[in-house]
Amino acid sequence: MPRPSLEVADIFRGHGPAWRRANAGHVSLGQLKVMSAIENCRTAALGGHVARCEECAHSQISYNSCRNRHCPKCQGAAAKEWLAAREADLLPVPYYHVVFTLPAAISAPRRRFCRSQSAERSLHTLDRFPHKRSTDLGDRPPTPKSP
Ligand SMILES: [Zn+2]
Repeated sequence: MPRPSLEVADIFRGHGPAWRRANAGHVSLGQLKVMSAIENCRTAALGGHVARCEECAHSQISYNSCRNRHCPKCQGAAAKEWLAAREADLLPVPYYHVVFTLPAAISAPRRRFCRSQSAERSLHTLDRFPHKRSTDLGDRPPTPKSP
């Protein structure tokens, strides 16, 4: 895959130090570590190895990856694979994204119950389609965690 002309790492390397100074005290240590990992990913800072052709003596340097889960270089391919797998699960019908807010009077346990009921109803609806049963989509979705 060709390297994009501008990467997040380029922006972090070019503007990260000034941004860190301007936001000192407002950025967590974890966020600073992510920025540092992205800046150093696939550079000499993380080391690497040299592959050399014994016939023509051509050599190529490959720098190590940061493997940080927030790094677009390291996780970009995995994200694309995950998205392609989810797209393969889609039914050939129009989809709608519905967002609604539950009343504040509903307590957290009640919200969990409503969510699990929604998941059950969705699976029940899918089971009504003979060509694509919910069991074909894998196991039932995990019980939603409390907010
Ligand atoms: Zn990385």
